[in-house]
Amino acid sequence: MKWSPVRRPTGRLVELRGELIRLGDWSTTFRRRCELCLNGDFERARSLGIDDRAWACHRFHWDVQSISTCPEHGCALTDDCSACGRRQRWSDPSLLYCACGARLTCRLFATARSVCSDYLAGRLGVSDRLSCELLDALDYRHAVRAVRILSFAASDAGIEAVGDFCTPADRGWTIAKNWVDSIPLLLDSLLKRRGRRGSGLIEAYGRLYTETDEQSAGPIFSEQLLAAIERHAVQHGIIAENECRRGRPPLGTVSVTGLARRLGRSYETTRSLLREANAIPRGSRRGVAFAIEASIADSLPPRQPESATQVLGVGKRQAAQLVAEFCLKNNLGRPCPEMARRWVSSLPTYQSLPSETGLLSDVCRNRAVSLANICHGIIAGRVRCTRLTATGGLSDFRVSVEDCVSLKRASEWTIKDVSQRFGAHHQALLELVKLGVLARHGRKLCRENVEAFFAEHLTTAQLAERLHIAAKQVIGFADRRGVHPAFGPPSVRQTFFRLQDCRQLSL
Ligand SMILES: [Zn+2]
Ligand SMILES: [Zn+2]
Repeated sequence: MKWSPVRRPTGRLVELRGELIRLGDWSTTFRRRCELCLNGDFERARSLGIDDRAWACHRFHWDVQSISTCPEHGCALTDDCSACGRRQRWSDPSLLYCACGARLTCRLFATARSVCSDYLAGRLGVSDRLSCELLDALDYRHAVRAVRILSFAASDAGIEAVGDFCTPADRGWTIAKNWVDSIPLLLDSLLKRRGRRGSGLIEAYGRLYTETDEQSAGPIFSEQLLAAIERHAVQHGIIAENECRRGRPPLGTVSVTGLARRLGRSYETTRSLLREANAIPRGSRRGVAFAIEASIADSLPPRQPESATQVLGVGKRQAAQLVAEFCLKNNLGRPCPEMARRWVSSLPTYQSLPSETGLLSDVCRNRAVSLANICHGIIAGRVRCTRLTATGGLSDFRVSVEDCVSLKRASEWTIKDVSQRFGAHHQALLELVKLGVLARHGRKLCRENVEAFFAEHLTTAQLAERLHIAAKQVIGFADRRGVHPAFGPPSVRQTFFRLQDCRQLSL
């Protein structure tokens, strides 16, 4: 029967009315419905004087999750009961009545017609077919994915919804529909929004670039979109015209300034080294990034770095932390460049990375995970990373964002953990959160942040212990010597002293 879905287990696909639908887009667990369609069935059965249960019928497109509104009535498809809230299942005996007895046709819906749903329903032959040149050329599943990718990007770019009921999918659909005019605008907004922080396509276009692959969005769409992105990127000096990207692992795009910093040489020297290596594309301008093959960047002789900080390629403070954490010291207890070099090259790297990736330093900053924490993750094989060049330090590492974020979860403490560990009152901790001193993720506290706070602060009890006096006397004792609490009543119910201030109490 042409109405019946045919499962194609090999590709996890369902064939429905000549269209290929992703199995995950087709739900047979919960049963969705349009209450107005069912109400029509109900009224009809009544006027004919027959059993309403026998007359009500299911519409096949209700099972397709990418269709969110009824093509006929324009109201949202639902699967729950307005009386008891229970989600209806295919195994339930009636389509018209919930197990609680309520009729499933009584809800009043605001019309929230989704043009994207109407388009998809049209493709399944449920309603009149809308045209969209770009999507018409794609399989159903690829069209759904393309709309999703474009709607992500629209929200990343801060493009506001048009109209009251415009769903995210509709935003994506509208871009697809007006492809020729919309895509340059979308790319411009993405670029403006992200600024020109890092370099390269991922930093510039984010998810729009990373989520588009042949596997999920199909060859036609990914080809068109990536071509548009690359044209735009060349126009805006993000990548070089001669840079070949697809079919190869991402190539590091560096500016001469960036490369000079990496080599520890001056701009002029770097440029003349590149000229000798024939690695400067014609017409290149100062400050505009161009592609330098990783192998060429590697072949340039770096100035022998004198310090471990230079070898590690991170800031001074971070380098000091890494030296301490991973014991990169010589016999005299001084940071050792040679050990740092060996340590960096001992970090396990991968050929390619899955999904979203970022430069190590960007991920540290943007996701608030400490560098040392990520390095431990890399060593333990919990964070996948690649290295752009063989000679650069950690600034050359690209890591999987997802892996780093999952490390962070382990690095969170509950209020109770913190209060037991440091002897802090749980209410006081919440008050410190309110003051913005401690960072909170949901119901947990950021471990790194908590540790930093307690490394710099003492509770009255801790101070009393160090001074060998009674806790009760601490505040008066300190006050007489001109040391005042950093936090205390009334804003925070427990008193905390800054460790630095306490030095003058001759601890
Ligand atoms: Zn309907
Ligand atoms: Zn119910």
